[in-house]
Parts: sequence; structure tokens; C-alpha cells
Amino acid sequence: MGSSGRADAGEGDARSAGPGAVGEQPTGGHGVRRVVVVGAGTMGTGIAQVVAGAGFDLQLVDESPAALERAGVTLDRQWARAVERGRLGAEEAEIARRRVTMASTAEGLATVDLVIEAAYEDLATKRGILASLAPALPEGAILASNTSSISITALGAATDRPDRVVGMHFFNPVPVLELVEVVRGHLTSDETVDRVTAVARDLRKTPVVVQDYPGFVSNRVLMPMVNEAIFCLGEGVADREAIDTVMRLGMAHPMGPLALADLIGLDVCLAILEVLQRDLGEDKYRPAPLLRRMVAAGKLGRKSGEGFYAYGG
Ligand code: NAD
Repeated sequence: MGSSGRADAGEGDARSAGPGAVGEQPTGGHGVRRVVVVGAGTMGTGIAQVVAGAGFDLQLVDESPAALERAGVTLDRQWARAVERGRLGAEEAEIARRRVTMASTAEGLATVDLVIEAAYEDLATKRGILASLAPALPEGAILASNTSSISITALGAATDRPDRVVGMHFFNPVPVLELVEVVRGHLTSDETVDRVTAVARDLRKTPVVVQDYPGFVSNRVLMPMVNEAIFCLGEGVADREAIDTVMRLGMAHPMGPLALADLIGLDVCLAILEVLQRDLGEDKYRPAPLLRRMVAAGKLGRKSGEGFYAYGG
């Protein structure tokens, strides 16, 4: 899961999203002006903030009116905070806000250049979204997915344009973390990779291109560490604070692996480890029994109020 070891998840510097002047239009040579983000949850809202802040016209789409409502509140709060802190002029914030429209289904697709899908981490959901949008898009438009673990090649195969389907894997909190893992599916064209790489730079992110293998690089490296920390806890090697302290102070990680698992969501960690174990066929990715037990008990981390740590309120 593209989540950071930051305690300030969901917060961020609204200005960090843009090229400096919010009134500017991006000019990165990628031909992208109008963007649709599908899914207005944690990630979609963060992506919307950086995309609109960087000068792209943005439509944020979610089937849930409540999610759109929450996203609007979050975006307003982020831009208001940036103005309060003197990082953004009130007029610039207003321009960025006006670039965002919200809709329950995508509209005006004939003039959209890039779709970024950030809906649930579920193959059928993502394939359904991409397959239904693709025919209404202009020929050159790109479909990107923010998936953490689903095959970009499998998503591309659901569309009429597998060469223009690519992964744009952002990290949580999106306005703060600089990385975008650009995932090249088996049929993704060089031109598509080049264009989304240029878009990512316009978003003031650092793109890194990786191949379409399970977990890409980020989760393939991160999740075994998180899993091993849970094995250590389950075997009684040390208690939770000791394990997290070793990794924070000894390895200079901003957050220990157990606290990070709580931030990501234990169900999400389990799902990614299962994908790694199944698709790479290696037992070294076997999820820790304690992780399975906690997920079965509904202890999912911050989002459920308790995981390895308790989160009051
Ligand atoms: P979330 O549950 O917060 O948001 C998902 C949103 O998608 C919901 O608001 C839901 O209503 C909407 N949605 C679902 N199906 C839809 C449809 N058919 N049409 C329109 N809207 C639909 O999820 P999230 O944490 O924002 O994750 C979104 C994606 O980003 C997932 O693929 C996830 O793996 C990936 N991701 C998450 C993180 C993270 O730390 N949360 C990091 C990197 C990548």
C-alpha cells in the first residue's frame, strides 16, 4: 500500500501540489489539460488536490454523494489552511477550487485527456470503471489506475486501449509524499509512460517507472518488513513499542512498522501479502498468523479505532 510513515496522513501543504502559481496552466508537453479522477476517498481527494493545484481542470467522480461531500470539505479545508499559513493567496486558492467539479458519473468525456482511477482495490470494480469510460474518451486519452497491487496488464485488457493504460501509484498523504510509481503494463506504450511521467512532474512529484509485477517495488519491499514485524510480535521477540522503536531509532524510519500497518489498514496489508504470495508463488510472503487473527477480529488499525495500538475517539 502506498502509505507513508507519516503521522500527518491526510494533511498536507496545499501549495506543495502545484507549480508555484496556482493560476498557471501546466505546459509539460504531455497534451493533458482535462483530468477525471474516479473515487473521492482518501486517495482520490488527495490526487484531486494536487491535480487542481497544478493547474489542470479536474472532475472528481464518486458514486457516493457522501464521499463527494467529504472530499469537498477536505479540499476547502486544505486550501483555507494554505491561505491562513500564507502559502497561497486567497485568489489562487479560489482559482484552484474553481477548477474542481464534482459528479456522480463522469461527464464530458469527449474532451478528457487523462482518467485517474482511485476506486476500491477490487479487480472487478476497476475493470468495470475503465471498460465503461474508455469508449467515450478521445483516442489519445490515457487511463491510469492508482491500484496498490492489481495487475495493470489485467486492467488494460478490459479496455479498447491497453497501450494507453498505465499505473500512477500515488502515496498517502498525496499532497505530502513526492513519489509516483509509474507502472508499465505488458502492453503499455512508451509514449503513454512518457506522458504520465511528464504529468507527474507537473504535479511536482518524482516519477519512478517500474514493471507490472505483483506489489510493484513499493509494496514488494515494504510489506515483507511489516509482516516480519508482526511475526516478531506474535512470537514474543519483543513488544510493540520495542519493535517500532528499533525501526524508528535504529533505521531512521519516521514511523515503526506496526504503527504504519495501523495507518495503512491491517486488512489492506493482508490483502497485499496474499497477492504477493499467490502471484509470486513464494512462501516468504506468507501473512503472519497474528495479522490474519486481528483482521478476523475486526481490528483493522486506525480506521476501526484499534489495531496494534488503540486510537481513542
Ligand atoms: P477509499 O475507500 O477511501 O475510496 C474509494 C472511493 O471509491 C469511495 O469513495 C467509493 O465510493 C468510490 N468508488 C468505488 N467504486 C466506485 C465506482 N464504481 N464509481 C465511482 N466511485 C467508486 O479508498 P482509498 O484508500 O482512497 O484507495 C483507493 C485506491 O488507491 C485503491 O486502489 C487503493 O489500493 C489505492 N491506494 C490507497 C492508498 C492508501 O494509503 N489508502 C495508497 C496508495 C494507493
